[in-house]
Amino acid sequence: MPLRAFSAARTAAALLLVLTAAALTGCSASAAGQTAAPPVEHVSSADQLGPDDGYIPDGESVALTDDVPAVTRLVPRLRSALDRAAASAAHRDVTFTIADGWRSERYQQYLFDRAVVKYGSTSEAERWVKPGDQSKHVRGEAVDIATADAMDWLNRFGAEYGLCQIYANEAWHFELAADADGNCPAQLTDGSAG
Ligand SMILES: [Zn+2]
Repeated sequence: MPLRAFSAARTAAALLLVLTAAALTGCSASAAGQTAAPPVEHVSSADQLGPDDGYIPDGESVALTDDVPAVTRLVPRLRSALDRAAASAAHRDVTFTIADGWRSERYQQYLFDRAVVKYGSTSEAERWVKPGDQSKHVRGEAVDIATADAMDWLNRFGAEYGLCQIYANEAWHFELAADADGNCPAQLTDGSAG
């Protein structure tokens, strides 16, 4: 049955062609993605960071009303949610201050590089700090709350404003993540899970 054999061979050849094309497309897409992304700058010392990086020194914090890039470069939806939540929390004498908000990519990378030294490996560091190109802080979509009473308030009432604790090991880190009914998603164990 030469005709069937020919047909089968042709089908196999066509399939191979499709698979090869798919593989090539995948390769060229990821290669293009890699060349398009600019390299992340590595900063060796906090002395090289300033307010324009969203840098807030350890132990310091800023108010939501401060005119600093850490606050002003947060996405408007997050800022407005924080402002509304803060106004409500003020009735209970709880004041929101933030230890970190928007960060430049090189500031985030500095934190990540420091975490790799502290925890001994990139995988362990990723449980606590995202690399420079992956952080919600760099996108202005996350804040780290500075005080325990404000964290506690947000954990109880933040979802009404869309604000959720994302990682079980980061009681201070909040993002806009609640659904339309005001329910937060299940917390991830740590940064490496997300
Ligand atoms: Zn955070």
